[in-house]
Amino acid sequence: METGLPPDFGKENPPMIDHHGRNINKLRISLSEVCNMACTYCVTSLSDHKRAPDELSMDQMLSLIRILKDHAGIEKVRLTGGEPLLYPNLIKVISGIRDLGITSIGMTSNGQLLARKAKALSEAGLKNVNLSLDSLDPEKFKRLGRVGKLHKTLEGIEECLKYGLRVKVNMVVIKGENDEEIVKMLEYGVARGVEVRYLELMGMGPLYKKDDFKLVYMHEILERISERYTIQPVSTDSDSTSLRYWVPGGFFGIIPNNSAPFCSTCSRLRLTSNGQLIGCLSNPTPISIRHFLDHPDPSVPLQNLVKKSISYKQDVAFTGSTLVMSRVGG
Ligand code: SAM
Repeated sequence: METGLPPDFGKENPPMIDHHGRNINKLRISLSEVCNMACTYCVTSLSDHKRAPDELSMDQMLSLIRILKDHAGIEKVRLTGGEPLLYPNLIKVISGIRDLGITSIGMTSNGQLLARKAKALSEAGLKNVNLSLDSLDPEKFKRLGRVGKLHKTLEGIEECLKYGLRVKVNMVVIKGENDEEIVKMLEYGVARGVEVRYLELMGMGPLYKKDDFKLVYMHEILERISERYTIQPVSTDSDSTSLRYWVPGGFFGIIPNNSAPFCSTCSRLRLTSNGQLIGCLSNPTPISIRHFLDHPDPSVPLQNLVKKSISYKQDVAFTGSTLVMSRVGG
């Protein structure tokens, strides 16, 4: 198999270093494609979120995570979807991942079902939560998400902070929809010690090749914020996907999917709810690894498939895709 990777890549035990020198150690898992919101930039309606007919059971999912940890260098896990809080065994999945020896466990959620679960999630081993919050106005929140209530997500954030979970807020900025709230969202975050991250809209799913793509560029976001705050860029981890800035009282980030793509530092591997690896959003060719559930010695064959998936990582910016984010775990 010709992958363009160094000949010794994956031969030994982990870590999995690719031909860019990236340590591919982060796994983003879509536990299930089911979601309780239908954000306008993600899907066309709630019914677009369909459970995969061959969705892995919880035990199968935990086994695959163990195999990827033991044989392919996975050290950090982020649970997403779909909406992870709808997953019936979420607490058990988290404690199961912790029991595998993985200590960096995060979740990306819309927070609608979070408030009553924050304590149990923290006790199970969850360390950080990225909350999707596109508006602080109840009407706009509903318009952008089609379903859901603002106060529930806000309550979820307060409960997470109470139980020591590190919280970040993800705001997808959309021209004419919520860009007037850029500064308001930062004020909300600074007041709570919560880092706000502004996401540039990506041309995925319903937005693929759409003319009325309401993208707000990074420089526009920075301009808005600098009208109110003094801004200073600060350094980020070498494999970070966001650019980070200091403002008096806190920090914020921008995930510049279009303005300054982070492909060269991306160290993520994605696992779908039915056990397929996806190495790159720009080339989301799935590679199934569920057959390793019954494999007596997955080491080398698994590493070969991880290598193949990683070799799909593009060196260029994201160019758009028909793929819906909830399938690959945003
Ligand atoms: N249900 C969870 C949530 O709402 O956070 C997790 C899944 S959601 C697909 C994960 C992230 O993908 C969210 O932060 C969402 O804003 C982002 N997302 C989905 N479609 C997007 C798009 N077209 N452009 C940018 N971000 C997108």
